[in-house]
Amino acid sequence: MANNRQKIFFIYPPSPIMNREDRCQQPTGDFLIIPPLPPVDMMSLSAIAKKYGYETKFKDYSLKNENLYDFLRDIRVFKPDFLVVNVASTFLEQDLSILTQARDLLEDTVVIVKGAIFNFNSYSIMQTYPEIDIALRGEIEPAFEEIIQYHDFKNIKGITYQINNKITSTPDRELSKNLDYLPFLDRDLIDNNIYIRPDTKKPQTIIRVSKGCPNHCFFCLATPLNGKRVRYRSVDLIIDEIKECIEKYNIKDFIFWSDIFNQDNLWVQRLCRMIIENNLKINFSANTRVDTLNEQTLALLKKAGCNLLSMGIESGSQELLDKMGKKITVEQIKNAVALVKKFKIQIYAYYVLGLPWETKETINETYKLAKELNTEFASFYTATALQGTKFYDYALKNRLGEINFEKPYYFPSVKSYALSADEIYEYNKKFNKEYYLRPKYILKMACSINSITKFKSYYDTFVKLVRKY
Ligand code: SF4
Repeated sequence: MANNRQKIFFIYPPSPIMNREDRCQQPTGDFLIIPPLPPVDMMSLSAIAKKYGYETKFKDYSLKNENLYDFLRDIRVFKPDFLVVNVASTFLEQDLSILTQARDLLEDTVVIVKGAIFNFNSYSIMQTYPEIDIALRGEIEPAFEEIIQYHDFKNIKGITYQINNKITSTPDRELSKNLDYLPFLDRDLIDNNIYIRPDTKKPQTIIRVSKGCPNHCFFCLATPLNGKRVRYRSVDLIIDEIKECIEKYNIKDFIFWSDIFNQDNLWVQRLCRMIIENNLKINFSANTRVDTLNEQTLALLKKAGCNLLSMGIESGSQELLDKMGKKITVEQIKNAVALVKKFKIQIYAYYVLGLPWETKETINETYKLAKELNTEFASFYTATALQGTKFYDYALKNRLGEINFEKPYYFPSVKSYALSADEIYEYNKKFNKEYYLRPKYILKMACSINSITKFKSYYDTFVKLVRKY
């Protein structure tokens, strides 16, 4: 291979609009209140590439409403030395079909793919798509850095590569002890004004804080991908990256990116204190478990600028919570929501519908709890048996239907023992609409409106919901 490789093209392929970060693969078109998020992994790899003098470029074809022909044109014009495709598990075939179409144009390009699915199934996917040269597995940054420096695949851990149809997987790479190896995201790669907070319409960006989760819930990819130990970035580095966002990009709204943000309350408190001491006037959101929240942490979060906490509530049925290994109780959920409300921090609640043990009764218990909690935002997802999860293995073993993703994303990938996939899908549509059209909810949100932008944002969402369902 030649040594004069200079250009790297990162893409989100022309499939439905998705957030494609491995654990958070979710469509942004279907749920009106989920905004597209900055392409974190692409920005991370671009930062590394620029360190070595590469010219980089990114395009999200679905967000730009561009198609295969636009992609072919871009390849002809840009002539990348490396093409990096971010692949979603649920749109695998659609995402990769463009490579087959572009085969002749990509002859001199090293095609790299990344995505959760390659951690579990890179070999057979690469057999189907001989256009793929390398699949990244595990932590992608160190392997990518070695690829663009040395072009010598066989000694690079954590990749599967293909030369002349011979596929070779190198040994897994150990998970790093902390996340300080991660570069600041390359925010010059994207138009930051596209990625906005829905309520204020101001640009928001992602700051990576930790990876890993000790819980390993039935449907979740966090633990298989990022390990059971929560690994952090240094608070100092996080603060420096926030400062760079404010000073260089005038971004003051952040999503703190982690599998489980508040596993260690002392660490969260230290981060909040540093934000306060540095007088950083920011807003941020983060995710949280309901069983690790306490008043002291919440008080500091509020003071540091936390405007929203997202919570995986999942179900109103204790039996289901236990079976999915969530290790929380309905009582803890209610207490945590009440506590967060006390500090006037908004809540985004996530629910999962259609796990194998779901019945009419349990699904209604979930919706009843959601109405009772009446959080500012709520999404009811259908359970998706992604490869690598316990759910995937269970669904195969217990013959819960053929796992496929040909239908719309929110169509369940399998049935439950008691409900068909169609029935779960109907509940999904009903809850996602009815939740937001309840008078109690509308009144609550109307009372919280304190700006024209917020009014417009809520009104637009309301109208879209009525039209969509
Ligand atoms: S606690 Fe959250 S991040 Fe951890 S495994 Fe469960 S769903 Fe995933």
